[in-house]
Amino acid sequence: MKVLKFGGTSVGSAARMKEVAKLVCNGERKIVVLSAMSGTTNSLVEISDYYYKGNTAGALEKINALEQQYLATVGELYATGQYRSECESIVRSHFEYIRSFAKAVFTLFEEKAILAQGELLSTAMFHLYLQESGKSSALLPALDYMRIDKNGEPDTAYIAEHLERLMAAHEDAELLVTQGYICRNFYGEIDNLQRGGSDYSASLIGAALHAEEIQIWTDIDGMHNNDPRIVEGTRPVRLLHFEEAAELAYFGAKILHPTCILPAKLNNIPVRLLNTMEPSAPGTLISNRMGTGKIEAVAAKDNITAIKIKSGRMLLAYGFLRKVFEIFESYRTPIDIVTTSEVGVSVTIDNTRHLHEIVNDLKKFGTVTVDTDMVIVCVVGDMPYENVGFQAKVLGALRDIPVRMVSYGGSNYNISLLVKAEDKARALQALSKELF
Ligand code: ADP
Ligand code: ASP
Ligand code: MG
Repeated sequence: MKVLKFGGTSVGSAARMKEVAKLVCNGERKIVVLSAMSGTTNSLVEISDYYYKGNTAGALEKINALEQQYLATVGELYATGQYRSECESIVRSHFEYIRSFAKAVFTLFEEKAILAQGELLSTAMFHLYLQESGKSSALLPALDYMRIDKNGEPDTAYIAEHLERLMAAHEDAELLVTQGYICRNFYGEIDNLQRGGSDYSASLIGAALHAEEIQIWTDIDGMHNNDPRIVEGTRPVRLLHFEEAAELAYFGAKILHPTCILPAKLNNIPVRLLNTMEPSAPGTLISNRMGTGKIEAVAAKDNITAIKIKSGRMLLAYGFLRKVFEIFESYRTPIDIVTTSEVGVSVTIDNTRHLHEIVNDLKKFGTVTVDTDMVIVCVVGDMPYENVGFQAKVLGALRDIPVRMVSYGGSNYNISLLVKAEDKARALQALSKELF
């Protein structure tokens, strides 16, 4: 069985939903995971923000506007009055629910309940459309099987057991439609898998079912070899190893959610990135395939802070790095890149919530310098160190750009470089020019 996930743009209008319906109907039983229609989750975040600030009028204005947008889509989606009015009443009930928070105390709990409405709406609308078109479809409520544990990690045993049970109740359905992104947490409350997390839903479902393939359908023909929003003339990469895709997703390639690769990799399920606007394009296949010896792609991660700790005490000492890392651990702050010399160490972080405390604690061990507004540029490919020349090519491309840190050797799959945010576009463009 295959799992097909369609992102926000792919279901962003009545016309797009109709296209997706054509795409998924080929007689094979499959799971169809949908995101919210594009822009919806952002609007729900904005509505929540008004509620947080106690501005009910502001929230209601936004809610009404979004509801009108949905009712207009419903008007275009269905051919018959019966389905149109059935869907209208579903849409209205979701918006009534969002309005009901006007009277409540507003906390993270209420916000998560509001954020879940986007995926609940898109799947309800799509499922009804399939039914109207005479397709064999069933709705699998993600809130009945997708669950995270106390640490926010997926509860894989629970997911598999409950998903299989729900599927068994719809044995004859060709299309099993379900929500991406949303889940319940350890306490049974509505929660989510973080922004962009529908990719993760698809991969958790694929892993739970030992699916034959996970397909991520989006608005571009696969993983490009550089960020198409910044660099002109980027091209899709046809084949990627799981490790390469994971590095690219983690270091900023927005097409994939960073957590999405792991469940697929652990279960050796190929992930295919495909374009809803051009369904016959080959896209990108992510799998366990053997190395190509090539540099494949470049990505960049924004909002990075570099911290340098310089200390004479590091010279010939052991235990220094442990003490430094323990400080980051005590503030639950992950480190991305580490570079060391005999007299100091530099690390990067992207979560600066505890920066002040971290810097304060680090001062016990040496002189601390902080560089903000940095960007990690990540070059990804099959780069075992015996393949001479790739480091020179990468650094050569950046010859005119100040590079604050360089890291290679943690894996055979990436070289990470830290540059100033103001040099990001220039660095990405220079790398594309020289490498591809
Ligand atoms: P969806 O809504 O389908 O989840 P996203 O907006 O999350 O889609 O991801 C697709 C977008 O990712 C593309 O439109 C593209 O602008 C952006 N993107 C960033 N880096 C890359 C890359 N290396 N390859 C392809 N797309 C990328
Ligand atoms: N709708 C959610 C978001 O916009 C999840 C997703 O699209 O993957 O973040
Ligand atoms: Mg996405």
